Amino acid sequence: MAQRDYYEILGIDRNASDDEIKKAYRQLAHKYHPDKNPGDKNTEEHFKEINAAYEVLKDPHKRAQYDRFGYAETGTGFGPGAGFGVDFQDLFGDVFGDFFGANRKRSRGQRGADLRYDMEVTFEEAAFGTEKNIKLPKTTKCQKCNGSGAKQGTSPTQCPTCRGRGQVNYQQGFFSISRPCSHCKGEGVIIKEPCAECNGIGRIKDIKSLSVKIPPGVETDTRLRLSSEGESGIHGGPPGDLYIIISIKPHPIFQRQNGDIICEVPISFPQAAIGCEIDIPTLEGNVKLKVPAGTQAGKIFRLKNKGIASLHTGQRGDQNVIIKVETPTRLTTRQKELLEEFAKISGEETNPIKKNFLEKMKNLFE
Ligand SMILES: [Zn+2]
Ligand SMILES: [Zn+2]
Repeated sequence: MAQRDYYEILGIDRNASDDEIKKAYRQLAHKYHPDKNPGDKNTEEHFKEINAAYEVLKDPHKRAQYDRFGYAETGTGFGPGAGFGVDFQDLFGDVFGDFFGANRKRSRGQRGADLRYDMEVTFEEAAFGTEKNIKLPKTTKCQKCNGSGAKQGTSPTQCPTCRGRGQVNYQQGFFSISRPCSHCKGEGVIIKEPCAECNGIGRIKDIKSLSVKIPPGVETDTRLRLSSEGESGIHGGPPGDLYIIISIKPHPIFQRQNGDIICEVPISFPQAAIGCEIDIPTLEGNVKLKVPAGTQAGKIFRLKNKGIASLHTGQRGDQNVIIKVETPTRLTTRQKELLEEFAKISGEETNPIKKNFLEKMKNLFE
């Protein structure tokens, strides 16, 4: 499951105040509450997302961590007292009881959390693709105990209270109700002698180096999924996924519009009038462009296939060169004289657009 941005989920700004966060959460939780939308799976998922986002953003410590690393420890494997964590069981177990069914037990073999990594790439890297080495803080399986959490040479034993089920049943009136086993905290196993390396958690915090291939054509907010590169699973569960979220640094000359590159090129007023040949920068170096005599400001020249390849089809876009005609400034006396003389001998033939406009103006009041 893709992990969406927590701020996005709550529909708030990255620098929203605590009050704004609380307000947004209340409104959304109210709207998507499962009681109001019985049987709607999507709403239920969304409601869970909203709660997960709020659990992190309401806590200044977790929020800071999320802002910095793009994720917050959701610590399902850390057990109580580890200092971190949103645990779905605790969150929903208390509030909704058996609403979602009895299967929400903290079973063994839990999948690791998904991670998010924000990566900034240059305009050129986004266009042609690249390979980047990243350092990723994450929890990995403890090698010493191979993830079991038990001291070397020992292994976890089945919890005698729940016989490994992680849950106990009790009778209330006509109903048999199950709740997490308090003896093993729902784990189903007891670790008598914890591993010294990981304190019985089975995972350790680590910084992992990873080489990431960025394909050509990525855009800002492109999300690349690296399966199984998230946090390691708990008690032999599968690892989560890693999501790389791309943002592209602005380019000094180029702008991007999907697969097309937009580039404004200034030319002087005489160049535009007389015509010229100019150098145009492209992703693959300069190319020559013939600007014909009488080119107007705003004219667009299209350089075929000089744009960016589509991430999906590989088809390259174009480069659109927009001509900007620069009005001369800070004229010397001599330059001014020449232009005044030029204006005197210039008739309507020289400026047909202006002539046309003046005629339209005249007609407005007739
Ligand atoms: Zn260990
Ligand atoms: Zn137990």
